[in-house]
Amino acid sequence: MTTGELIWDSEGWPGPDFAHNARQAVENSQLRRNVRKATGTIRQRRAGLVAETPDWQELRHAGAAVKDDVLHHLDAYLEQFERAAAARGAHVHWARDADEATQTVTGIVEATGHKEVIKVKSMATQEIGLVRALERAGVTAHETDLAEMIIQLSHDRPSHIVVPALHRNRAEIRRIFRENMPDAPRDLTDDPHQLAEAARLHLRRLFLKTKVAISGANFAIAETGGLLVAESEGNGRMCLTLPETLISVVGIEKLIPTFRDLEVFLQLLPRSSTGERMNPYNSVWTGVTQNDGPQDVHIVLLDNGRTKALADHIGRQALRCIRCAACLNVCPVYERTGGHAYGATYPGPIGAILTPLMAGVEHAPELPFASSLCGACYEVCPVEIDIPTVLVKLRHDAVGAQRHRAQDATFAAAANAMNGRRRWTAALKLAPLLKFIKHGGPPPLNRWTRTRDLPDPPEESFREWWTRRR
Ligand code: SF4
Repeated sequence: MTTGELIWDSEGWPGPDFAHNARQAVENSQLRRNVRKATGTIRQRRAGLVAETPDWQELRHAGAAVKDDVLHHLDAYLEQFERAAAARGAHVHWARDADEATQTVTGIVEATGHKEVIKVKSMATQEIGLVRALERAGVTAHETDLAEMIIQLSHDRPSHIVVPALHRNRAEIRRIFRENMPDAPRDLTDDPHQLAEAARLHLRRLFLKTKVAISGANFAIAETGGLLVAESEGNGRMCLTLPETLISVVGIEKLIPTFRDLEVFLQLLPRSSTGERMNPYNSVWTGVTQNDGPQDVHIVLLDNGRTKALADHIGRQALRCIRCAACLNVCPVYERTGGHAYGATYPGPIGAILTPLMAGVEHAPELPFASSLCGACYEVCPVEIDIPTVLVKLRHDAVGAQRHRAQDATFAAAANAMNGRRRWTAALKLAPLLKFIKHGGPPPLNRWTRTRDLPDPPEESFREWWTRRR
């Protein structure tokens, strides 16, 4: 499997070393301030809306049950979706990995003869590195989601699933527009209305002239062959309706069985992602409608490691994810490091499990350890993904994949000592020596004591106390 940009590559991700990346990130106080302010605001809005939804827990159970049904019968639902979409005039393509997906999309764009495309915000296209693949084929892809546009203009990386430019504040955005957007007004201030207006005018010109659009989808409906994109700005809807050709890259786990199931997810998603009762724009399209919207519609169904995740009995629940980012907004680790430290497309708690599950834990052995296991992510997840349990399982896998000889030797020695009364009594006599490594000790022990306090050994062992009392 090729993983595209799912995990780091040589072209710009910070690299696989989470501990190193996180240390650098926490030194950036501006970044920490931006992330704390933005996640705090969304967190509060979400909590308020959940509190006013009396059947929230039932909705969560229903969301998890629908997604589990899809995962248990994925083959049947995929074929049903393909048949329904094809019957309504869409061309359905299958992609095993990032290379197949980017080749398919690039081929379709090249066949149109156009050199520019507009894009709806999409995690799947980011995962496969589509913008760069198109660039290599001489095609310019313009991001049209405001936050994605900021990221693209500043040659930056997204740091959040729903709010990719969350690590940027208004002053930084003004500077990015003035330096990189040729049609930005020279007297642009950091007033949000002015910034939004500058972006709107810039994007409007692109919408009117570009004939090919690329999207992802929040949901793919097996019953009808339809796709749904939920968004806040309306820019997505411009991309989905104005161009002649529309190409959608959709992860195979995005399926839901019926249109009616949207009733559950369109309550869960907006409350969990942006803290709204509903998304301002929910666009649903099914194949081709004559003389209305794109007349050349393509859907690329993407695996890229999803079937690998599906084979993991504990980890497969990660495929229920509806990419709401609620788990990021409550994560104490994410709040301090931001998203770049994870070095992969999916940051935060969901990234810490999804990346190793899809790419293989041997490619991301540090990520399952990027958590305090506080459980806040599980509590807020609208589809009840038990992220802490999956993290613990992946930690076990990661340790298995990267055996530490020193650690193995330590545990073998401890097991040996504990396995006989005399040996254990003799070993306890060495306990006072522990105070010499309380805050240090030789490597690799000092990696443990650097961030934890080793308790002082008791003056007297239980056996000594027992003997003395008798
Ligand atoms: S794991 Fe749950 S909370 Fe996190 S992004 Fe996915 S659906 Fe949202």
